[in-house]
Formats: sequence, C-alpha cells, structure tokens
Amino acid sequence: MQSKFNRQEAENALRTITHPESGKNLVDGGFLLSLEATELLSDTQSAAQSTAKTDKRTVAPSDASRASRPEMKIEVVLRFHKRRDPFASSLARKVKSTLETLYTRAEVEVRVEQSGDTAAKKNTTEESDNKSALPEGVRIIAVASGKGGVGKSTVTSNLAVALSDEGYRVGILDADIYGPSQPSIFGCEDYAPEVENRDGTDYMIPAEAWGVKLMSIGFFVGRSDALLWRGPMATSALRQLLHQTLWGELDYLLIDLPPGTGDIHLSLISELSIDGAVIVSTPQRLSVADVVRGVEMLRNDKVGVPIIGIVENMSWFTPAELPESRYYIFGNGGARRLAEACSVDFLGEIPITASMGEASEQGVPAVVKYPFTREYYRQTVLKIVEKCPKKVDKMTIKF
Ligand code: ADP
Repeated sequence: MQSKFNRQEAENALRTITHPESGKNLVDGGFLLSLEATELLSDTQSAAQSTAKTDKRTVAPSDASRASRPEMKIEVVLRFHKRRDPFASSLARKVKSTLETLYTRAEVEVRVEQSGDTAAKKNTTEESDNKSALPEGVRIIAVASGKGGVGKSTVTSNLAVALSDEGYRVGILDADIYGPSQPSIFGCEDYAPEVENRDGTDYMIPAEAWGVKLMSIGFFVGRSDALLWRGPMATSALRQLLHQTLWGELDYLLIDLPPGTGDIHLSLISELSIDGAVIVSTPQRLSVADVVRGVEMLRNDKVGVPIIGIVENMSWFTPAELPESRYYIFGNGGARRLAEACSVDFLGEIPITASMGEASEQGVPAVVKYPFTREYYRQTVLKIVEKCPKKVDKMTIKF
C-alpha cells in the first residue's frame, strides 16, 4: 500500500491483469492508453482556499470524511482494439480495484475507449436492406440434449472455437432459457449488447471472443428471470435475437438449445430453420434414454430436422497426474451403441477432466486454455463439417 504514485509500480501492477482473449497483459498488450496521477489538495490547503474563495460550504468536513478524503486522483484510459470488446467492463473493474488496493488514498477513475473498427459497420450496411441480419449462406446447427447437466453448453462453446480454429466464421446463439451459460463460459457476463438502428429496425451487436460471435438471452435477463420466459414469449425473443443480431458473415451458427424435449423445443426448432442437430449425451443409461426421446422429437414429421450425430461427453475420466489412464466412471460406449441403434452417426468422445470444468469456471473455453483438449473437439468438428458442409460462397461459383 503506497501513498506516493510511482508509474513503474502502477504499470507493474497492471501487468498482472491479462486480457483473456489475447493472452497479453494490459500494459504490454497495448491496452493501456494513458495513466495519469494528480495530487489533490490536502485539507489545510483546501480549507485555506475555501476561506479565500468564500466557498459556499461552511460546514467543516467531518473526521470521517477527512479520513476518507482521497489524496490523489488516478485516471486511466484503456483502449481496446475491437469495436466492442466483451471483456472491456470486467477489465476496467479489475484495473480500478488493483490500483485502489495499491494506492489506498487514491480516487481511481477508469475510462474505456474502443478503437471503433469500421469494418463491422461496413458489413452491416450491406445487410440493412434485409430485415433479417442473419447471413444467407449460414448453416444453422442446433446443439441439443435430452436433459440438463450433460455438458451441452460446454460442448457447444468448444465446438464453436474448434470450428473457428479450422478457419470457419462461427457464431453461437445461446437459446438456453433455462440457464444461459455461454456468457460465463466465454467470460463476458458483463457484455451489454449495443443497439444500432438501421432503416427503422434495431439490430444488436454480438459479443466476439476467440473468433466466435456470441449472442445470448443471458445478456438481457438474469439466470432466474430467463426461467420465466415460456412458450411464445421465449420463442419470439429468440427469433428476435436470431434475426436482429448483426452477425456479419458466418459459415456456422450453433444454437445452444434448452435441455429436454418439450413443446418449447418443437416451436423453437421449427421457428429457427435449423439445418441439422448435434445431440450431446453422457454414457449413462438414463441420459441415453433421454437421447432416444430427443432423436424421436427431431425426426418427428412436423419438425424433420436432420440429425448430424451424437457426441458423447464425459466418456471417461482422466486424472491430470495420469494422463494416459481412462476410468469409465459412467460406463463405456453407451452413446456409441445408442447411435448405432438409432442409425445416427457417432461424432466423438470427450473425456471428463478437471481442466475442462475449470476452464468454463474461469471464463475461457477449454480448447483455448488447455490445448490437449483440442484434438477431441477437432475430430468431432471435422465430422460435423463433413455431414453439414459449409455452403458454397456465391462468389466462388465459376462456370
Ligand atoms: P448443460 O449445458 O448440459 O446443462 P454444462 O455445459 O453447463 O451442461 O455443464 C455442466 C457442468 O459440467 C459444468 O460445470 C461444466 O463445466 C461441467 N462439464 C461439462 N463437460 C465437462 C467435461 N468434459 N469435463 C469436466 N467437466 C465438464
């Protein structure tokens, strides 16, 4: 705890804060635009001044206010290279608390400047004559599960990053009204989508992290409020998020559906023009039974969504200290057998590892934070792309 400002020391403190997506600290990563400290007048100085200027305030400051009176003001400006960096608010808060801890008698003010990349604006102008900002060539893939807790959201986020790593332009629409968790998996819970009005229609700007554009019902309502959204209200809100988000160009849009197979799923699926569905299951018997219901629902005549395949999550447990060992704690091969029985493709197995869970808790998808997990997702992504290939860009068709 210091009372005198020392730039070097303050910068070193800010070096301990890392921008999650770039992996660089705020100072060396060029996010710190300015850092200024000004000494504030001491009590005696200000008292003398206030007498001289016959300040309107005649009541002497109380001891308490004197004790808490800041001795200096630190002003920080952070600059983010992206137009709307989803980590801006949480990083600004970290900067404020770090400097307040270091300089207990300072008043710290942090401002955020966004670089204002105009590329995003240009893209959206082209889309404005169409009321839906959903790009024409996008493949919409729903990620579904028979029940909650099987890792559907975790798998969705990692598949999205793995698709982006393969060079595809990817978005996620988090439609899980029962527990929108994509904002916390991507560490951008504080993101508040801005609205841009184009030709009288409001469009929302998605968050963007690790190459993935993200729009979530969780940006607008708290986890418990989302539960209140039922039936037509949820469907119309999700329709709006799908069509009125400025996605830009996308090859794949993954929709993180709510778990289960109820009425809401039927209306959502028919509403969202889904190209195919990926079902996430664990190897457990119960989970597998739920999946059968999910497969039947999707194959139902009224819905008719092609099933791309089944991904088994939590296939085995591998402890960090024994990376070669596999413990089949939920049974072995349950989802693979199920896929065969339902004549659906089996897309891959994802193990349980402490790191996979931790990554989500820390707001960084596992494939980014723990590269050893990449291969599991890559294999699954390659199968998804094979079964549901990217649409061919109009520009590339030549005769
Ligand atoms: P769902 O979307 O199906 O409800 P989540 O993706 O929210 O499930 O996952 C439930 C919990 O399980 C989360 O805490 C998540 O971090 C954890 N989890 C999911 N998949 C794995 C995995 N393969 N290894 C370890 N933890 C996992």
